[in-house]
Amino acid sequence: MKIVDIALDFIFPPTCGICGKLHEGYICKTCYEQIQEYLYKNNSENIFYLLQYKDIVRDKMIDFKFNDKSYLYNMFCEILVKNKNACEFLKSYDIIIPVPIHKKRKKSRGYNQSELIARKISNDFNIPIYTDVLIKQKNNKMQSSLNKSDRIKNIQNVYKVKNEDKIKEKNVLILDDIYTTGLTTKECKRTLENAGAKQVGIMIIAKD
Ligand SMILES: [Zn+2]
Repeated sequence: MKIVDIALDFIFPPTCGICGKLHEGYICKTCYEQIQEYLYKNNSENIFYLLQYKDIVRDKMIDFKFNDKSYLYNMFCEILVKNKNACEFLKSYDIIIPVPIHKKRKKSRGYNQSELIARKISNDFNIPIYTDVLIKQKNNKMQSSLNKSDRIKNIQNVYKVKNEDKIKEKNVLILDDIYTTGLTTKECKRTLENAGAKQVGIMIIAKD
């Protein structure tokens, strides 16, 4: 632990992301037991879903993404780190890339929620993170505000790749917060593969 982290823990001691009680970590034992029923069970080869997007998970994800509770990334990371299968899955990747948001949205929200989680994972697992490779070039409408056919049109040519050399022949892991139709992650995957990534996997925090 770095000195600055110890100092921060002293000033802002960790609290459980669910019940809010002071705790040595970011999810207490009782809440962690409660969350077990939301762990996602049937993962396929190149995609890993950590949680099911419903009930308390959904509420916390909405707080994290839309209600300024950026600190909840700590809790989602802790749930991930405690999950042996998730850790095993992460190990086969060379690079982690969070799904980008447009710079205008980042400015208004103040943070990219997927990037906060990806940075902590990058740090904990020693996997480099790149935020200057996959770029969101169009500030499209929120996918969640559209119907299925409009979502397909809305996502086309939204992303581009810069600094291609960084992903050439690499196993790249995309990290996204919520998976609904999968159109966003599929478009990111396609864009990275076209730019020369060897294999692209996906880690989702909560699947709808
Ligand atoms: Zn708790």
